[in-house]
Amino acid sequence: MNPATESVFATAPAASPGQLDAAFAAADRAFPAWSRDEDARRAALRGIADALVRAVEEVAPVLTAEQGKILSESRREISGAVAWFRYYADLEIPRQIVQDDDRVFSEVVRRPLGPAVAITPWNAPISIGMAKVATALRAGDTVVLKPSPYAPLSTLLVGRIASQLLPAGVLNVVSGSDELGPLMTSHPLTRKISFTGSIATGKKIAADASQDLKRLTLELGGNDAAIVLADADPEFTAAGLFAAAFSNTGQVCVAPKRIYIAQSLYPALVDALVAQARAARIGNGADPDVDLGPLNNRPQLDYVAGLVAGLVAAGGRAVTGGSVIDGPGYFHESTIITGVDDTTRIVAEEQFGPALPVMAYSDLDDAIARANATEYGLGGSVWSADPERATQIAARIEAGTVWVNTHKALAPHQPFAGRKWSGQGTEGGPSGLDGFTDAQFLYRTR
Ligand code: NAD
Repeated sequence: MNPATESVFATAPAASPGQLDAAFAAADRAFPAWSRDEDARRAALRGIADALVRAVEEVAPVLTAEQGKILSESRREISGAVAWFRYYADLEIPRQIVQDDDRVFSEVVRRPLGPAVAITPWNAPISIGMAKVATALRAGDTVVLKPSPYAPLSTLLVGRIASQLLPAGVLNVVSGSDELGPLMTSHPLTRKISFTGSIATGKKIAADASQDLKRLTLELGGNDAAIVLADADPEFTAAGLFAAAFSNTGQVCVAPKRIYIAQSLYPALVDALVAQARAARIGNGADPDVDLGPLNNRPQLDYVAGLVAGLVAAGGRAVTGGSVIDGPGYFHESTIITGVDDTTRIVAEEQFGPALPVMAYSDLDDAIARANATEYGLGGSVWSADPERATQIAARIEAGTVWVNTHKALAPHQPFAGRKWSGQGTEGGPSGLDGFTDAQFLYRTR
């Protein structure tokens, strides 16, 4: 959080358990009419998209002030939310015909569930929150949404804009501390939970959801590996990896977080990454001349700084950066790290900050095995002058999304799902609707 906004943060509202109950009651009352009127739902989603386009310059500074990301990224995040509303407004809810012959017509249709809980983290509250809202509303569910206590204000603002275009009770936004979360995930009126955040919280929510078998989608942490083959162009690869790893100051679930580089390319690519890191200007995200803002909060800054200090103590080296920046705000230098291995904490754990470990490999099969030797399975990438070969290698990486010659290219029509501990269920694309609906099989004889 920027220091200038700490007083605003201190005054962000905290919903009481009674207000939370009122939000669920409203969502429950609104559900029957909302779930029946598909045309109204599609029109509302289009209306929200248009309203958000008009509100970009109102919302973006709030997002930058509370989250820290640079203004152009805030604008992109809001445009991303617009794209989600438009995509789901236009999408036909899939119907799958199972049998259609002289005897029988049968099909699978999707049915909405009821009030859905959406809980979001602090790194991208608008794109993550509105992806859930757009999908849930299109499916026919109503929503109670809770942003992170570290970045609640932009979501409250967008929630106010969107709810003006919706019947009362369809979208409810509550803010407050972490303690609100379990009250939501165990609430008797909740039929669905869509959570994005850490693996530790995701596991607690899965336990809560199991009590009465609430439907559950989890988008959790990642520790994406990027594998760079010997034939990759060092300048192109460094620019792509740096942008993906350091945008939003590294606080992105699907950022490359550990890089495995073919030995022969290692010196040139490390040099090119260092040049990228040195050129990126760090400062207040509201300043148009700044490329990277602060970390969002003090605990995250302390965590990243602790990982960096630990690796230096264990023989690793920060070839550039390596330190917290003195002065107000949660700023940390852009840091490229060498001399570490897969057991070093910053390689084994998700750093979620501006410090990137780069390691050399001499055997490609070994590099793939190292990329896969983790409980994380969110994303990954392979970089090469030969995209066909890179695609074959990408298929061997145990992650929900693997890119070739890019990383972190996300869009609402693409399915996004973590493997292993990085998640459960899918967001995006037609299959994103599955998580907010149950299947119904309809069978009739001719
Ligand atoms: P977090 O798990 O600490 O908090 C996320 C949200 O959960 C917040 O709104 C918080 O108030 C709420 N919460 C906390 N305890 C809860 C509980 N017991 N029950 C219900 N809700 C609870 O995560 P964070 O620190 O805000 O976010 C960073 C993490 O999110 C990183 O691990 C990152 O990789 C992950 N993330 C994943 C994705 C993805 O799509 N896979 C996207 C963005 C961030």
